[in-house]
Amino acid sequence: MEQVHQENIQAFRSMIRQASRMAVVAHTHPDGDALGSCTALSLWLAGKGKKVTCVLPDTPADNLQFILSPDVRYLYFDTDASAAEAAIREADLVVQLDCNHFSRTEGLEPFLKASTARKILIDHHLNPDRESFELVFSTPEVSSASELLYWVLKAADGDFSTSPSAPLEMTEDLSCRAQSRHLISIGTALLTGMTTDTNNFANSVFPSTFRMASELIAAGVNRDALLEQLYNSCRENRVRLMGFMQYEGLKILPEGAAYMILTKDIMTRFNLREGESEGLVNVPLTIGTVKLSVLLKEDEGHFRVSVRSKKGTSAQQLAARFFHGGGHENASGGKLHIGTDISRADAAEAYVVDALKTFLA
Ligand code: 5GP
Ligand code: MN
Repeated sequence: MEQVHQENIQAFRSMIRQASRMAVVAHTHPDGDALGSCTALSLWLAGKGKKVTCVLPDTPADNLQFILSPDVRYLYFDTDASAAEAAIREADLVVQLDCNHFSRTEGLEPFLKASTARKILIDHHLNPDRESFELVFSTPEVSSASELLYWVLKAADGDFSTSPSAPLEMTEDLSCRAQSRHLISIGTALLTGMTTDTNNFANSVFPSTFRMASELIAAGVNRDALLEQLYNSCRENRVRLMGFMQYEGLKILPEGAAYMILTKDIMTRFNLREGESEGLVNVPLTIGTVKLSVLLKEDEGHFRVSVRSKKGTSAQQLAARFFHGGGHENASGGKLHIGTDISRADAAEAYVVDALKTFLA
């Protein structure tokens, strides 16, 4: 892929060669792409004999735990702040994946800012903070951080899917985690991250994305098993919540926007776990007249905001203008703070309606 320049690959190789302790970091509330890319890179680095720790702002959701590897050391800032901080402080090389700015790592931000380690960014969001990194691989012209990392590792290693000394472990059985040691391989982790970020090939798919998928499947990655884990392993609660929100929670504005508000009360009623409302925000876009969809999820002191749009309408601009956020042109996120943006949680609806009407006017 043209965004992966040879001189950057030389720099990538040499920075890794010179490093002895590495930290791999990604964004808060890590999704499949964050976990897939972090796991893959950590396994790849460990395969090179490097000491590497994957430091994440939050504990991954239950439904994404299968993307973790027993061969990687993970630290979560929400449950183990001092160890997470130490891993960043002691690292001489930090690689940040799937987020464009330190601020997206939330609790890790001050330690990343204070760190004197050399830093590499591998990301696909708009507006990367290039100044904070010595080496940047960043383009929005790729499906996911996992795909970009695939092309970087492939360039750094030669054709690892066919080489006999291939560092990519391709064979594993996701369905029998208990027996197998290599439950998640580099290739499976990368294909998983790409799959979740593209919504299983529904959006942000480029010719390079199909090439990556086809090479990984040819090399032995079991896509059926990972689809089973991602899409056919959820709890009944999720399906009922999705139905409830679409039946009772969905509001549609004549301007062509839809919104839903997932309050703490609703989450309690459906005993909803982190990650279980994934994909809900996309549903309203299946309506022909809807070009913009917003989902608010109540959290401590704020709402987490997800925005999705059809081509020609910018989710990124809505997120940046009204929700302190950003992301991709058609898939972005942000926050709505209770106490500053709105006085009380029940003022969220009026704020969203006003934001959508103003934005689409
Ligand atoms: P999601 O709606 O799935 O949480 O996030 C969609 C996209 O928006 C992801 O690429 C994510 O990285 C980005 N995003 C989510 N929340 C925020 C946020 O608070 N700030 C920024 N800048 N981006 C966000
Ligand atoms: Mn991503």
